[in-house]
Amino acid sequence: MSKKIRVVSFDVDGTLVEQKFNELIWENDIPVLVAESRKWDFKQAKDFCLSEYAKLGDKDLRWYNVEYWLEKFNIPISAKEIFKKREKSIKVYSDVLPVLEKLKKQGFKIIVITCMPRIFLKEKIQKFDRHFDEVFSTVSDFKQVKSPEIYLHVSNLIKSSPSDILHIGDHHTLDYEFSLEAGYKSILIQREEKTKDFSISNLQEIFNFL
Ligand SMILES: [Mg+2]
Repeated sequence: MSKKIRVVSFDVDGTLVEQKFNELIWENDIPVLVAESRKWDFKQAKDFCLSEYAKLGDKDLRWYNVEYWLEKFNIPISAKEIFKKREKSIKVYSDVLPVLEKLKKQGFKIIVITCMPRIFLKEKIQKFDRHFDEVFSTVSDFKQVKSPEIYLHVSNLIKSSPSDILHIGDHHTLDYEFSLEAGYKSILIQREEKTKDFSISNLQEIFNFL
């Protein structure tokens, strides 16, 4: 990888913050509410919700929108209430702060590119958002999920050449392939199970690429 990287870009879920928080909301809290309102048992409600999520898929921007699901399932509760209740379940990976501090010291510009709506993002990154020069929520800011065009658009917005940016994320298509296609340098992070030999499993490894 080239030595002239000036900007380091991070995905959030599964990269900086444990995916578990999302799973608790999508796979527990929403199904619990559906079960209550339809008088179903939890298993039936969960299977129903999971199949509805899968029908839409994570390349559709509505997938990321808890409000969309609450409305679709006729649940009269705001997404904000659900997040508030779950705030304590947000877990930041232990390598995040040291890596952000080291990058800052070395003079890199640090940005975030995530699909997650801003309403969903604030609580997740508040412990370390002072380190970020810019935070982009593709769903809130551009009404789209990540795509090669979105990565290009972000590089224009921050007035950087795509090849000066290194993006790190855990989604093989949305993070790794699409950012590469836009001309970024890219690293796939697989924290749980490393299945690709080019991926990393700990953020400290990114310094081998800088
Ligand atoms: Mg992710």
